[in-house]
Amino acid sequence: MERTLSIIKPDGVKKNLIGDIIRKFEQNDLRIVALKMLKISKKDAMNFYIVHKDKPFYDSLTSFLSEGPIVVIVIEGEKAISKVREIMGATNPKDAAPGTIRADFGSDIEHNIVHGSDSKESASFEIPFFFSYIEIQGAY
Ligand code: UDP
Ligand code: MG
Repeated sequence: MERTLSIIKPDGVKKNLIGDIIRKFEQNDLRIVALKMLKISKKDAMNFYIVHKDKPFYDSLTSFLSEGPIVVIVIEGEKAISKVREIMGATNPKDAAPGTIRADFGSDIEHNIVHGSDSKESASFEIPFFFSYIEIQGAY
């Protein structure tokens, strides 16, 4: 069993995709064990995406993530981390496999609808960034 953090980014919320995205996770044998909607500051977004601090897209990405409400979700299941990444599709919607969230709904490499932790290490930073222990209703 693994846990991963997903975020429905401001473009996903704006496009009314919350239900579609959660359904895709649930249909793939994954369980939602924590969920909330919030609007984060630019500073919070910069801390969340600190691994990308030296990338040319850091400023624009963190402005985007803080421009409107997001939905943060903890997902639990067998191989949850790689499963969620598969359901999301490649970072650039142009390269994402048909039927993935990013292929179906993403606009461009920045506005790609959804986030998912890329490893156990990032999940163990990203989950407690948004949720405390008692907010997660999981199997462990
Ligand atoms: N991103 C961007 N330009 C790029 C690469 C990434 O704007 O050239 C954005 C995009 O929104 C992506 C996020 O930065 O989802 C984090 O990048 P990462 O490489 O971690 O991609 P992900 O893990 O989200 O697929
Ligand atoms: Mg990433």
